Amino acid sequence: MRIDIITLFPEMCNTVLDESIIGRARKKGAMELECHQLRDFAFDKHKRVDDTTYGGGMGMLMKAEPIALCFESLCNSLGKKPHFIYMSPKGRVLTQQRVKELSELDNIAILCGHYEGVDQRVLDSFVDEEISIGDYVLTGGELPALILTDAVCRMLPGVLSEDVCFEEESHFNGLLEYPQYTKPQEWRGMTVPEVLMSGHHANIDKWRYEHSLIETARLRPDMLEKLELSDKDIQLLKNEGII
Ligand code: SAM
Repeated sequence: MRIDIITLFPEMCNTVLDESIIGRARKKGAMELECHQLRDFAFDKHKRVDDTTYGGGMGMLMKAEPIALCFESLCNSLGKKPHFIYMSPKGRVLTQQRVKELSELDNIAILCGHYEGVDQRVLDSFVDEEISIGDYVLTGGELPALILTDAVCRMLPGVLSEDVCFEEESHFNGLLEYPQYTKPQEWRGMTVPEVLMSGHHANIDKWRYEHSLIETARLRPDMLEKLELSDKDIQLLKNEGII
């Protein structure tokens, strides 16, 4: 997979994308990540990428033409049109399901807005999808683009040590992950649940499933409403006093 990020702050993006798990995967070629400086496509004499908004208002808006030129140049160099995403607080809020679907594409391009956002005409002309990372407003699209890139890349083969790493995690199957413990066995008077040290895999799997369910019911009851619970699940949650 290849992800191209169109931004006024490519160094900021590269700094993050060169670190830790994604950085190592990038180095060994598990995916291609490219950051493009939008200002390189501003060809007026002041290299302006933003201007005042029609209708008045305080803020500046990113101009259509540099974005169009940057995206068209990207399409030419790739020889095809990547799925083009604009990070926006107006977009559909990102979910693990959408992350999984996006990780199956060959090419994604991500546009990071800044200031008041982007001229609507460039969105109408090129953008396939607007994605939000939550119902709040940030100063720019770089952090959202990095969040999307991280979430998508960690689902690609060769990025995490095994697929099971994400398959058991929160949101993959509509549940939150079970509680986890590491050494020491006793910490400040609190011990690790006995079953997790038993080596009995069937009992450990049962404990983990049940505690995923309890954790989800306790922390995210809205997620529980979307699940089809068995009679056994319902009884468990009743015994726990959750429902
Ligand atoms: N005026 C816009 C509005 O009210 O919808 C907000 C613009 S925001 C200050 C600047 C840029 O940050 C946006 O163009 C977008 O790229 C990015 N951004 C801010 N919040 C975001 C969010 N929750 N999800 C995704 N991108 C966001």
